Amino acid sequence: MDVSIKSVRKSFERFPALDDVSLDIRSGELIALLGPSGSGKTTLLRLIAGLERPTSGRIFFGSEDASEKTVQERNIGFVFQHYALFRHMTVLENISFGLKVRPRSTRPEASAIRAKAMELLELVQLNGLEKRYPTQLSGGQRQRVALARALAIEPAVLLLDEPFGALDAQVRRDLRRWLREIHDRTGHTTVFVTHDQEEALELADRLCVMSKGRIEQVGTPDAVYDTPASPFVFGFIGESSQLPVTVDNRELWVGGRAIGCPAPDRVSGDARLFFRPHDVELAEGNAAIAGVVTGARRVGGTRRIELAVGGNDHKVEIDLPFDHPAGERSRIAFRPKRFRLFDPVAA
Ligand code: ATP
Repeated sequence: MDVSIKSVRKSFERFPALDDVSLDIRSGELIALLGPSGSGKTTLLRLIAGLERPTSGRIFFGSEDASEKTVQERNIGFVFQHYALFRHMTVLENISFGLKVRPRSTRPEASAIRAKAMELLELVQLNGLEKRYPTQLSGGQRQRVALARALAIEPAVLLLDEPFGALDAQVRRDLRRWLREIHDRTGHTTVFVTHDQEEALELADRLCVMSKGRIEQVGTPDAVYDTPASPFVFGFIGESSQLPVTVDNRELWVGGRAIGCPAPDRVSGDARLFFRPHDVELAEGNAAIAGVVTGARRVGGTRRIELAVGGNDHKVEIDLPFDHPAGERSRIAFRPKRFRLFDPVAA
């Protein structure tokens, strides 16, 4: 089911939690809403679900205006961070619940409900645990039951709000891959809220990056990572460093020297240069950014070197392999291999 959010605003009293948000979610895709705490992710998810009404704007499910429809009418499957399983019901009863409470006219036969629940139990790889109660399951197992329960009703849209947020790192990583597999097999339109960029980059077909109630950028993980649309996105997704630069004569200048990086045609004057620590090359001679080494630390398999550029005013970071001899020097000259320029005052 396509979901189209058109110019939606949501205010709580006077506070604008969502400010003119438009987003087209494509049928069958897994889209991640990603942003810092308070950026409006959960509010957007609740509006899609029908748990909240927009202050203004419309929400379409397919070609139908669903803005006034209830959660049940929208046929939403939900998984929350804190397992909202029914404690007094077994795993199988939990999974069957959404079908059992349907009105008689649309409720499947008891045997069909059981068959469906068993099928889902197998899909989420919990065969044999159907008689257990939620308290007899691990956190990861409970979230699998929650997903099976959400899928049982064949939802038009599956909404997941930080479903792995309460689990430890290894379980999270396992469940992430597992969720992607399930998605590929079942093909439900899925909206996934997370503030974990690694999770979003790994899982999603597209990311919707949010900040302060607005959408900053929507795109594939590669597009958002490689061509961030704003300083916020550059800083929020992946590692980044920034420096003030001047663009003149189609060259970038730092502290009065051209650094050997050609600038795009249309830019001139003051700008902010953004680059990734791993996207740099060391340089000899003057046509480079020169920095004094002020620190080094291990980040995964590389050594991240902190440099002060132009006195102590600007700190940047670059990555070097552990065995690179330049890592022992007190001064390093480098230039970014890939970079983006933004207006110096852009947020
Ligand atoms: P988190 O990652 O912390 O869950 P979020 O991106 O999901 O954050 P929301 O929960 O959507 O953010 O909240 C967006 C803003 O709206 C926040 O500033 C929050 O305080 C405010 N807000 C959300 N729900 C309400 C409410 N019911 N009443 C008043 N303010 C609210």
